[in-house]
Amino acid sequence: MKRRTLLGAGLAAAATAASQIARATRGLPSPKIKDVSVIATAPEGLRLTVVKITTDQDGLYGYGCGTFTQRAELVNLAVERYLRPFLAGKPADRIDDLWQAMYDSSYWRNGPVLNNAISGVDQALWDIKGRMANMPVYQLLGGKHREAVDCYTHADGSEIPQVIDNARRFMAQGFRHVRCQIGIPGMAGYGSSRGDVKVDALHSGPVFEPNFYFRRAVKMLEECRTQLGDEVELLHDAHERLPPILAIQFAKAVEPIRLFFLEDVLSPEDIAYFRNIRQQCATPLAMGELFNSPHEWTPLVSERLIDFIRMHVTQMGGLTPARKAAAFAEQFGVRTAWHGPGDVSPVGHAANVALDLACYNFGIQEYSHFGDRTREVFSGMPEMKNGYLYANEAPGWGIEIDEKAAAKFPFGYGESGERKQMNGGWGEIRRRDGTIIKQ
Ligand SMILES: [Mg+2]
Repeated sequence: MKRRTLLGAGLAAAATAASQIARATRGLPSPKIKDVSVIATAPEGLRLTVVKITTDQDGLYGYGCGTFTQRAELVNLAVERYLRPFLAGKPADRIDDLWQAMYDSSYWRNGPVLNNAISGVDQALWDIKGRMANMPVYQLLGGKHREAVDCYTHADGSEIPQVIDNARRFMAQGFRHVRCQIGIPGMAGYGSSRGDVKVDALHSGPVFEPNFYFRRAVKMLEECRTQLGDEVELLHDAHERLPPILAIQFAKAVEPIRLFFLEDVLSPEDIAYFRNIRQQCATPLAMGELFNSPHEWTPLVSERLIDFIRMHVTQMGGLTPARKAAAFAEQFGVRTAWHGPGDVSPVGHAANVALDLACYNFGIQEYSHFGDRTREVFSGMPEMKNGYLYANEAPGWGIEIDEKAAAKFPFGYGESGERKQMNGGWGEIRRRDGTIIKQ
């Protein structure tokens, strides 16, 4: 081989090595955001918003959940009219920086519509980074603390034996944690039916009386503990419907039942009363699904007034603020229990699972079943086995979306009555005399 050829081969090898080192130390070239769009779909009748971000690199894209089912069309507009032009051409790999930029770009902030819109973008950027790194997102967060995610599910019924039968059914499926909810005859209970009884009221709409709920729920939980044994972990959601003094009494009344946690015993407007509850009993307390802002969870965590943060990850602005809140809570011995209802898209559930796996202070995960129509639209969701959710090990969230299938279930699909009339929004519940109560 001639000297010049040898020299050329040597230079080429050196260049390849240099590019390999650059790639290993700096990663792939920085992708730029090409487009931001919304996939609006309602396969199970609940309006789901998924943000899709495409980049200037072929085949590199990501999905993020921005679901706020009661005001879904407003989130979609916030993404398409405001965040799309704001983000065009910006680097897709600067997630935290873009989060701060989006958050500040409206000047007025911390509201559910804008937070959900930001979450859709934020989670899509994490998906993109995972796909770039060829790793699931939980790896980017530090890797697994545990093999799978322990979950609770919902047993309800209009009568106590029904609740107990349903709880037994879930325990037979492997669940070690069950949330139990009971109907109140003739009333709009939470997570349970009202039966056939009609309650006298000064209006014709749904009725709720806090004292009726109080007596029935305590009795139901006592019966569940007696009949289901000591080993199963029982949970209950008061759904912010009790006046503060009744909430204190409720937390005390259920203390002997040794709940895994009592959820939303106060409304966000009444959270200063957690101090009073804490002083009087040791019932474990979970709170946060309606919180928008660190102003709400920071004092409860730092003063050790609750035991579980259970924010709705999209409502707080996405994975970026959620992982910070989880790390903050860890310093105070407060555990996570991210909100996981049906009105979170599978992408959002995958984000919950990534946090659950990667955060030391994981407590429990709320589980919602993915139906057949959801599976027609989304693939790669976390899978449930014996009460544990297992993450998809594919890069990013590991989720793909069939946009043609998504279009078969537009907003409004499966809606009827008041819900349809309200464009997917919720109606109202009143006391017998007509006073409005919190949902
Ligand atoms: Mg709740």
